[in-house]
Amino acid sequence: MKSSGKIYGLIGRTLGHSWSLPIHHALGCPSYRLMELEPDALPAFLAREDIGGLNVTMPYKKAVLPYCDRVDAYAAAIGSANTLVRGADGKLGAWNTDAIGFRDMACLAGIPFRGQKVLILGSGGASLSVQMEVRRQNPREIVVISRTGENRYDNLERHADADIIVNATPVGMYPGNGAAPLDLTRFPSLRGVLDLIYNPRRTALILQAEALGIPCSDGLPMLVSQAAAAESLFFGTDISEESQFHVLSCLRHDRTNIVLIGMPGCGKNAVGEALALLTGREAVDLDARIARRAGKSVPEIFAEDGEAAFRELEREEAANAGKETGKIIITGGGVVKDAKNYASLKQNGRIYHLLRDLSALPTDGRPLSQRTPPAQLWAEREPLYRRFRDVAIDNNGRALDTAERIRDDFSAHAAD
Ligand code: NAP
Repeated sequence: MKSSGKIYGLIGRTLGHSWSLPIHHALGCPSYRLMELEPDALPAFLAREDIGGLNVTMPYKKAVLPYCDRVDAYAAAIGSANTLVRGADGKLGAWNTDAIGFRDMACLAGIPFRGQKVLILGSGGASLSVQMEVRRQNPREIVVISRTGENRYDNLERHADADIIVNATPVGMYPGNGAAPLDLTRFPSLRGVLDLIYNPRRTALILQAEALGIPCSDGLPMLVSQAAAAESLFFGTDISEESQFHVLSCLRHDRTNIVLIGMPGCGKNAVGEALALLTGREAVDLDARIARRAGKSVPEIFAEDGEAAFRELEREEAANAGKETGKIIITGGGVVKDAKNYASLKQNGRIYHLLRDLSALPTDGRPLSQRTPPAQLWAEREPLYRRFRDVAIDNNGRALDTAERIRDDFSAHAAD
């Protein structure tokens, strides 16, 4: 039935950013494809009789409704559809599965809304789906925060008693990584933060929630769940929770970066190259990127421009590399000296600290190691490495053995 020659896929204007293809392929629709349409092509496309099932994204979620013969009550209530199916009778039906996706995301994060005061940031299409689901769960109060209107970002003090915050704005989304819509420390009773954004995996908002110990989730569980609900509408078959969880775990694994940190000379490059061979991932060497950009070697940058100039370049390259997904990122020994680099590397990464005996660390070509005895450098940096790392890995043996242990740990924990 799934290879019946009908069209399955996602329509939108620009789809280069979409993650839908691997999700729907993994959920069992191999013919699913991405179809970019200009607005004037939409009516003719929606008239096609060979439409099987479509997902709809920006800017057509509202625009498709007049071309549909049937609109589900929920899609009609929020005025937008993300799923279209041509039935056996030839009629085109419209649904919106975002609220189902949001319900599952909140449930997986263990964040119920009953009796809670919920702030929902943003008043766009996604916000309407969130409002529907939160309201269904009988909250104490729902407040929509908007850049305009009664409740805004400049009078948030009215809502310092919020229990849960949901970000339904694009603030912090790739490529605008690092931006946050608000500061969570202004809400002392907060017990849950849900961010609909899934790229990066940890927005600045989610990183702050994690740092404050507040339960939180990114938007990837919602993306997978709303896709599974759409597939059920396409083919009339339910997709099990286990299948959805498997797809979610695979995506997390494939998109998460493996980040290597550690003292100068601890073997990050050799382990990174071995990991690239083992996993087929691209290894990104931050120092090499810095040298390429500066047009001179790292020792030359230190000698001619000073450490501060090097750290500035390092901060920018860490920010650029940290936005990427599915890579191995090899850092310089001092990357931990700047706390901002933690957010850059952690947003999409699992961070491995390579440990090698100080007596085995070479110092050639390493400006700081030549000036400062390894024991002193270690005393300064050990707490910083500890702050950055998810896992410490001994690297006194062969690089390939270390790489295998990292690969195995990563396979087991990348989805955590
Ligand atoms: P949207 O319509 O473009 O924006 C939503 C709202 O965000 C806007 O109506 C606006 O509300 C607010 N906003 C926009 N730019 C802002 C800015 N610079 N600063 C502060 N607020 C801003 O997007 P959407 O379709 O509703 O999606 C919102 C987010 O949810 C996006 O990041 C999207 O990727 C994500 N999403 C995720 C899933 C998922 O499955 N995980 C599903 C749907 C959407 P005000 O004018 O009221 O301020």
